[in-house]
Amino acid sequence: MSIANLNSQSTIDLFDQYVIPNYRRYPVSLVKGEGSRVWDAEGRSYLDLFPGWGCNILGYSAPALVKAIQDQAATLIHVPNTWYIEQQGRFAEFLCSRSFGKAFFCNSGAEANEAAIKLARLHGSAEGRFRMITFEKGFHGRTLGALTATAQPKYHEGLGPLMAGFRYAAMNDLEGVASLIDDETCAIMIEPIQGEGGVRIPEPEFLQGLRNLCDQHGLLLIFDEVQTGMGRTGEWFAYQHTTVQPDVMTLAKGLAGGVACGAMITRDEFAGDLRPGMHASTFGGNSLAMAAGIATGETIEREGLLQHVVDNAEFVRQQLEQVQQSLPIIKELRICGMMIGIDLTIPSAPAVGKAMERGVLLNATQDTVVRLLPALNITREELEQGLEIVVSVLEEMAEDV
Ligand SMILES: *Cc1c(COP(=O)(O)O)cnc(C)c1O
Repeated sequence: MSIANLNSQSTIDLFDQYVIPNYRRYPVSLVKGEGSRVWDAEGRSYLDLFPGWGCNILGYSAPALVKAIQDQAATLIHVPNTWYIEQQGRFAEFLCSRSFGKAFFCNSGAEANEAAIKLARLHGSAEGRFRMITFEKGFHGRTLGALTATAQPKYHEGLGPLMAGFRYAAMNDLEGVASLIDDETCAIMIEPIQGEGGVRIPEPEFLQGLRNLCDQHGLLLIFDEVQTGMGRTGEWFAYQHTTVQPDVMTLAKGLAGGVACGAMITRDEFAGDLRPGMHASTFGGNSLAMAAGIATGETIEREGLLQHVVDNAEFVRQQLEQVQQSLPIIKELRICGMMIGIDLTIPSAPAVGKAMERGVLLNATQDTVVRLLPALNITREELEQGLEIVVSVLEEMAEDV
C-alpha cells in the first residue's frame, strides 16, 4: 500500500474508526511537502507558516536532511545506549560547542524536561531540596512531571493529584519568585520566550534576576528551549540574546528537523548528578535521529540561516508594524526571529480557518494570539506572500467586529 492512496475523507474515516480522538484535527489529510509548501490528498497546496508545530525547522523534505536520513537508515537505524554511537557523540559536540556542557538525548520535549526535573531533584537530594518554581502560561509538555511544571489549570483538569513540589510564579515578578524560594527549593524552570503561552518575551532584567536568585540560593536555572532552540530565534539558543546562561537547557521540536529527538544539556559540574542507572531512554540518541540532527544543524550553518532569520524577522516587524497603524485589532506584536506572535483585541481562533481557505497554515493560541513559526529557510517571497494573506485575514476579522 502506498502512502497517498486515500483521499482525505477516507483517511478521516479510518481515524474515526481506529484512532483515539484526543486531537482536534482540521479535516484534511496532508501527504507531501517541499520547503514551506505542503500538499493535501486532493492536491491542494498550502504555504505553511507553522510547519510541524515548529518541528520542521527546515520546512519539508530539505534535501540534505533527506539524504542524511536515507544514508543512515541504510547503515544503522538504532543501537541501544549500552554501546557507543558515533553520531550521538558528534551531535552532542555540535550542540555543546555552540552552548555549554554535556548532553543527554531523548525523544521529545516532555522527556527532555523530565530529565531536567530529575537532574534538579538528584542534585538537590543531598540537602533535601526538591521543590521547583515554574511560570504561569508556561508550557513544558504532557507527561505528568512536565505537566505539573506547566502552570496552566486547563491542562490539569481531571488528572490530579499532580506531582508534589511545584510552585507557580508570574513572569516578570521577581519579588514573587523570591517569596516562593525556601530551603527545599532546588530549581527554577522557565521558557526564555513562552511559545504556547503566546510568544511572551520576559524582560531581560527578569531573566538576569532569576540567575541572581539561583546563584544566591544554590538553585539550578533551567531554560526550556524546546521551542526557542536550534536557531528558531536567530541565535542557536534564545538565552544567547540575553546576559544569562542557564545551568540546564532542554531541546526538542526543531532539533532534528522533524525527526523525533529531544535533549537536555547541562553544565559539566552537574552532569555527574545523572548517575548510571538513574535515568535512561531506550530510543534516546539513536543513530537515525542523531544523523538527522547533525544534518539539520549543518544545514543551518552552511546556508547561513541564523542571519537569514534575523533579516527576515526585521522584514516581518516592519511589515506588521506598518499594518498595525491602520488595524487597531492588533494589540501587540511580539517577534523574535521566526517566532512571531500577533496579539489581538479579539479571539484569534477564526484566523486559522480563514487563512486555510486562502491556502496559508498558521496557529492560534492563548485565546487572542496568532502564532507563526515559519521554517528558518522560508524565502523572502514566501514570507511576503504569507504575510499578505495573514494581513487580509486580520482585515476581514476587523470588519467582523
Ligand atoms: C512543545 C513544547 C514542549 C513539549 O514537547 P513534546 O515534544 O510535545 O513533548 C515542551 N516545552 C516547550 C517550550 C514546548 O514548546
